[in-house]
Amino acid sequence: MEETLLGSNISAHELFAHHLKVRTVGAYDYQSPVDGKVRIGGFYQSGRTGIVVLAAASERGVFLEWTGTAKARWFYVAVLLAGTSLAAMHWRHQLRLRRESEAQLAAREAEFRLLAESSSDVIARFDEAGIREYVSPSSTQILGIEPQRLIGKSVFAGMAEDAEATVRSAAERLQDGSTQEKSLIKHTRPDGEEVWLETALSKLPAREKAVATRVVAITRDVTQHKKKQDELDVLANTDELTKLANRRFFNTRFGEMMQRACRNCTPLSLLMIDADRFKQFNDTYGHAAGDECLRQIGAVVRNCVKRPGDIVARYGGEELAVLLSDTDIQGAWTVAERTRLQVRGLALAHEGNPPAGHVTVSIGLATLPPEASADVTTHALFSEADAALYRVKNAGRNQVVCGEQSYMKTNSGTAS
Ligand code: GH3
Ligand code: MG
Ligand code: MG
Repeated sequence: MEETLLGSNISAHELFAHHLKVRTVGAYDYQSPVDGKVRIGGFYQSGRTGIVVLAAASERGVFLEWTGTAKARWFYVAVLLAGTSLAAMHWRHQLRLRRESEAQLAAREAEFRLLAESSSDVIARFDEAGIREYVSPSSTQILGIEPQRLIGKSVFAGMAEDAEATVRSAAERLQDGSTQEKSLIKHTRPDGEEVWLETALSKLPAREKAVATRVVAITRDVTQHKKKQDELDVLANTDELTKLANRRFFNTRFGEMMQRACRNCTPLSLLMIDADRFKQFNDTYGHAAGDECLRQIGAVVRNCVKRPGDIVARYGGEELAVLLSDTDIQGAWTVAERTRLQVRGLALAHEGNPPAGHVTVSIGLATLPPEASADVTTHALFSEADAALYRVKNAGRNQVVCGEQSYMKTNSGTAS
């Protein structure tokens, strides 16, 4: 206590004026009249002597330890609060991003549906196991089946065997790394109508941990287009006069049939059929009659070659070529001789073709034996048949002659 306060009257002070009037023990804070600092004073007035004891300490001193602890706690609380608010901000950000991506996804899905639903093609989405997740409404018109009857079913359900094989191999190529595959299949609608469907298969991005990928299929009805294409193919491969296959078609199939015969070790026979003295026929009866005669020869040959895998073609002019699959020289000889006789049997007058006096044909025959090596070319077989035909012409025509390179050497028919 300051020296100047000694002996001074402090009865007017707050302690005596207020606090001691209410209680004899207590504490209060006050501003020191000496140094102006805030202090906390504890007082006690003895009831026996009336002496008042006042102990004061600066407010800072009293709260020093408490403020230290409080500050530390506040610091932890502040760090905790800051951490919590940072975490909350992070989660709010994540939540916003997630909502945004969900909204984008929903918008994309809506866009996809709008496109799919306004398309005249059938758009379908398949999961990794080939189960339809979505089918657009045009399936009703194109497939004859409502989407809800297709969703949840396998792509192969109800599919014909050959169509299934086509789609399966396209799907396999897709899973093997191809980005888009096309397939053409025949589909029978529930009402029995057959349609041709062209489907483009594309991969969707793989889902997490998925081994296979999902697939989007866009299917359109190409029946009209297919019919036109088939008609064009027929036209491109058909001889206009005789309606037999043309030389182009013959050449394509000749190579394929040779390869198959070598692979399967089966015989293949070739007949080259040529109308005898046909120039003379035209000169005598006119070109139109010549055309009609060629038509009739063509029909006879077609009639004599009955197996579905065989090919009858107009090779050029008045020359026809026949390919007989899986037919040895004996079989080919039989067909050739029957053909020769049936042409003769038409009994079409041909004065300039003695001694028959009727339209006749000469036939050169070559056979690729089953044991023939794969080195034998179409050209070699053709040359052999052509050489045989040349020999027939030299031998008087209206005969069948076998090529010399065949396993049966030479064999010829007799003129009638
Ligand atoms: P060969 O017995 O030696 O075969 O005598 P060829 O007269 O039949 O043989 P050549 O090759 O000398 O004549 C073939 C004739 O076939 C010539 C041509 O007038 C006739 N010809 C070829 N194509 C047609 C056709 O499309 N219509 C008609 N009418 N005749 C054709
Ligand atoms: Mg000729
Ligand atoms: Mg001729």
